Amino acid sequence: MAPPANNSRPRLTAAMNYLTVSVVVVLGVIGAIAATAHVITGSVIDAQRDSATVVNVSGRQRMLSQRIALLAGRYDGSHSDSDRQRLSAAIDLFETSHTGLVEGSSDMALPETLPPSVQDIYFGQRLDLDRRTKAFIAVARRSTLDGGEGETAFHELRTIAMGEVADEQSFLYALNAAVDAFADHHAEQILTLRKSQSTAMIVFVCALVIGTLVIVRPMLRRVTAMADNLDELAVTDPMTSALNRRGFMLRGAELIESAPRCAVLVIDIDHFKRVNDVFGHAAGDTCIRHVASLAKEVFRASDVFGRIGGEEFGAVLADVSLDTALLVAERLSEVVRSTPCDVASVLRRAETVDVTISVGVAVCDIGSRLELIMQQADSALYQAKRAGRDRVLSFEQSQSLVLGEFSPTSTRVRSSGQA
Ligand code: GH3
Ligand code: MG
Ligand code: MG
Repeated sequence: MAPPANNSRPRLTAAMNYLTVSVVVVLGVIGAIAATAHVITGSVIDAQRDSATVVNVSGRQRMLSQRIALLAGRYDGSHSDSDRQRLSAAIDLFETSHTGLVEGSSDMALPETLPPSVQDIYFGQRLDLDRRTKAFIAVARRSTLDGGEGETAFHELRTIAMGEVADEQSFLYALNAAVDAFADHHAEQILTLRKSQSTAMIVFVCALVIGTLVIVRPMLRRVTAMADNLDELAVTDPMTSALNRRGFMLRGAELIESAPRCAVLVIDIDHFKRVNDVFGHAAGDTCIRHVASLAKEVFRASDVFGRIGGEEFGAVLADVSLDTALLVAERLSEVVRSTPCDVASVLRRAETVDVTISVGVAVCDIGSRLELIMQQADSALYQAKRAGRDRVLSFEQSQSLVLGEFSPTSTRVRSSGQA
């Protein structure tokens, strides 16, 4: 017997590939956005740190200018080595910090480029802070010397350093302006980064929502469809596309439960072994499909029909009396008998096979179990076979036949053609 075609495997593989790709895409998008948000958050933290350093160093310059003037005064009075060392150290720090602020310094974690507003303060004509700072440092260095030159320098230094913050011409004003400009620039920079961080967060949330709607939701739909498909495959006979035995027993039992009365038919192809022997299994398969398709035309859509064995079929007819069920079974029998099975496509020559069926019929009441009614229909089928095949028998008729009370009237013993 030909193995059942397994078309579900490639479809399953394709669906699994689709699911894998979908999950990878969703996770990839979320991962990329999370990485972006991480980088932006890192930039905000770096900017805050840089900003704090720059503002601190520039603020310290303001304080150092005062301290240098103070230490120069002290040295001018004492001329002690320790005062001169303290003054020199303050001047060194002032100079290094200035260079760091203007040119950048990795040691002091100061950026290489100056923001335009600060650049203007250091190199613009109005405040000219770079040149003035260098001049201040030169005077401060001279103030560390002994004698008259040191003293002159100290007085000059004090004049420069002791200006008013409110006086736009003063050195202190320029130093203060630099601190404010650095602080303003970094506040702006952090604001921009924070906006980017919020944008990244919004994009992240949108991506999650869109990912859910565009990828996850269709993915779940597909999984559901796949599950439905698998359910369907589990109850379908691949050769005839009718229900398989499992499906027939499940759906048949449901129908019996919901219908107040019904009938069960068990249908078996007569002398099927001969069909196989004479025409081969492929032709036999064609005849099984042929009978199934004729049966589907005879039964209603509300009836349950399935292939329950090799060349054996079952049907549960809802809301029918025994007489109606027998009529339907006779009609099917007649249709099968009068419609030879065309096996030309299998044998590659013009050939038909005459096929007949025997049918056992049993009726069920409310609360009947399908297995039990099937046994009765089976027993009727057995008697139909014994009585010569190609006929329909009800369970009651078959019982009478056993007792010798019933003489079947629908006996149409016919050999199935060449088979
Ligand atoms: P009866 O009239 O008593 O039913 O005679 P039968 O030859 O049909 O009886 P039996 O049930 O003994 O044989 C059924 C045969 O059907 C046996 C098996 O080789 C064949 N068969 C079962 N399933 C398939 C199938 O899927 N394809 C084909 N080609 N043959 C099948
Ligand atoms: Mg048979
Ligand atoms: Mg059989």
